[in-house]
Amino acid sequence: MSNKAHNFSAGPGILPASVLQQAAEACINFDNLNLSLLEISHRSKNFEAVMDESRVLVKELLGLGDGWNVMFLGGGASLQFAMVPYNLLRTGGTAAYVNTGVWASKAIKEAKLIGNTNVIASSEADKFTYVPKGYTIPTDADYLHITSNNTIYGTQMPSFPETNIPIVCDMSSDIFSRRVDGNKFTLIYAGAQKNMGPAGATMVAVREDALGKTDRKMLSMLDYRVHIKGESMYNTPPVFPIYVSMLTLRWLKENGGVDWIEKVNNEKAATLYNEIDRNSLFTGTVTVKEDRSKMNATFVMTKPELEPEFDKLWKAAGISGLRGHRDVGGYRASLYNALPLESVQVLVDAMQEFEKKFA
Ligand SMILES: *Cc1c(COP(=O)(O)O)cnc(C)c1O
Repeated sequence: MSNKAHNFSAGPGILPASVLQQAAEACINFDNLNLSLLEISHRSKNFEAVMDESRVLVKELLGLGDGWNVMFLGGGASLQFAMVPYNLLRTGGTAAYVNTGVWASKAIKEAKLIGNTNVIASSEADKFTYVPKGYTIPTDADYLHITSNNTIYGTQMPSFPETNIPIVCDMSSDIFSRRVDGNKFTLIYAGAQKNMGPAGATMVAVREDALGKTDRKMLSMLDYRVHIKGESMYNTPPVFPIYVSMLTLRWLKENGGVDWIEKVNNEKAATLYNEIDRNSLFTGTVTVKEDRSKMNATFVMTKPELEPEFDKLWKAAGISGLRGHRDVGGYRASLYNALPLESVQVLVDAMQEFEKKFA
């Protein structure tokens, strides 16, 4: 895998080479069964072991205590935008939302279809270039919904709000990237394809005592209690994405867990942001430095007419996936867990070479 591209893709994102190797082998012969992982029953003991280990690893890496249940569901993080209010928002109750970007806005849109929704803070008027702070959280809301990392705009919550109401967090793009006290939350969800595994599975961790408080008649597939009771096997789960997520979580644990990766991620982010700030041809798009994401670094060129030249240069350096989201433009370097520091160094070298040629 030594000729692998330096993969800065925002999602689906980079996975460890050793994980991809094991995943490829499991597609041919899983657990020495002489069968592919893809052609055995999800209720076989071999796959049940995968599901069990995945759930245990999530609890361990998020530091979740008793009373938590971990599910792997289909439908992406986007289905959770609907399932969260459907399961937690009571008739006549209100859900509080912080609007920090496209994904948060989509979560708000779904919640509004289900019940009363109160957007208590938003950075939309400033194109989501910072994370709102110092807002008042209503003490009578059914829950507060936040997005820990805003994949598109490159902002990240440096710390989490303090409140007594349940906190629901979309951690799709920074889960397992830094130490968080999972027990501060009531529900955490994340699509697998940013920092955990391939597309197709969504991890949902929930405190079970938060459920069953609505009087809504619940559709089975949208009811967390149904999936909890079925141990994430009420219907056929996305077996391959769950298996690869398990391998990735194993990889993380074996290398030193969240404390280890947080140090690596801090170093990667510092290396790149130092260069963005130093280099006369680039500038960051996030206006409040402490809100800069350590997972998705967004930056633009001070002379946008030079973009085609820079594109040629980084592509020639073996870099992939650097273009910014179509809503923001410029560049976005996603620094997910599996991206090594060496790849960031290759990008920084390309930026420096570019400055020497064109500044
Ligand atoms: C990518 C992303 C989503 C959407 O995930 P899907 O699995 O495509 O539905 C939601 N929230 C955040 C923060 C994301 O980065």
